[in-house]
Amino acid sequence: MKPELHRWDVPVGRRVGSEPWKIRFVELRGTQPGPATAVVAGIFGDKPLGCLAVQALARRLQGLALRGSVVLVPAANPPALEAGTRLSPDGLFLNRRFPGAPTGPLTDQIAHHVLAELRARADAVVDLHSGTPTMALHYTYDYGDRAFTAAFGYMPVIVGHPHEGQLSVAATRAGMRSSLPEFGGGPFRDVRIGVEGCLNVLRYRGHLDGAPTGPSRVPLIERITFFSPSATGILRGSVTPDRVGEAIEPGVLAGSRTRRRGSESRSSRSPSRPSFFSLIRARGWSRPARSPSWWATRAARSKCPGADGLDARRCRRESATVALRRNLNT
Ligand SMILES: [Zn+2]
Repeated sequence: MKPELHRWDVPVGRRVGSEPWKIRFVELRGTQPGPATAVVAGIFGDKPLGCLAVQALARRLQGLALRGSVVLVPAANPPALEAGTRLSPDGLFLNRRFPGAPTGPLTDQIAHHVLAELRARADAVVDLHSGTPTMALHYTYDYGDRAFTAAFGYMPVIVGHPHEGQLSVAATRAGMRSSLPEFGGGPFRDVRIGVEGCLNVLRYRGHLDGAPTGPSRVPLIERITFFSPSATGILRGSVTPDRVGEAIEPGVLAGSRTRRRGSESRSSRSPSRPSFFSLIRARGWSRPARSPSWWATRAARSKCPGADGLDARRCRRESATVALRRNLNT
């Protein structure tokens, strides 16, 4: 038996000469009783891949036998998604404004309405994020329930890095479970990990039958280290963006740096423990032909030829060697 599909819009804010903004909610109700889980995408306007994953998830779920109900929010922050920016047009950062408020700035009202709808209908929420067109990400943030977080599978789990104002922090404070997966972006434009990871969470929660997909263990990350160059120049990485998510052995060079006059120096920093290369950011790519293995920092202050339009940084996420068993309920 296929689940029943319900859709509704929650109006938020006021617009002169137009309708209010509308946040779309979709609920799939199974024919058998069961848990209630929510999946939210589009908290940030520059992370549209998560929105595509939730749309694909909705299509998948419509053909499956479902227990309980699944609430989907494919585009939680319409003004920021329309602008295509991380910050909302009112200058606020939605994932630092939860639980929000029924009045005041539009972003606070969005936070309030999203959380209120979820609280009324679910007791667990996956806040599905993704990378951006220029930034690849590959990890899931945990908010105190490691089994629930690891159930997503596929990506390392980062513990102990909550930020006040996040949807996941407000949701856990309201008695829900929550996790925040960050997948794809940059060269990884496929929604598959987002969709398959959410299906794994729904299997873990008991909505769906079947074995989880993906690796049976995911690494646990406790410490995050950001690496950035200490001098102006072009940093050419020895690890390229297409390798985001791969393990890096200790002693691998972070990259080589080319100074203004063309002399090359080797990077001084490299991880001392086994690490995961989890994130790369390259803002302001002006020429698609430029190799993604090149990036530079502080290019705006540099007279370095070839560095125009590039401003980037990158980070490694050091991982502990502890591995988590996924799907601890099996
Ligand atoms: Zn994010």
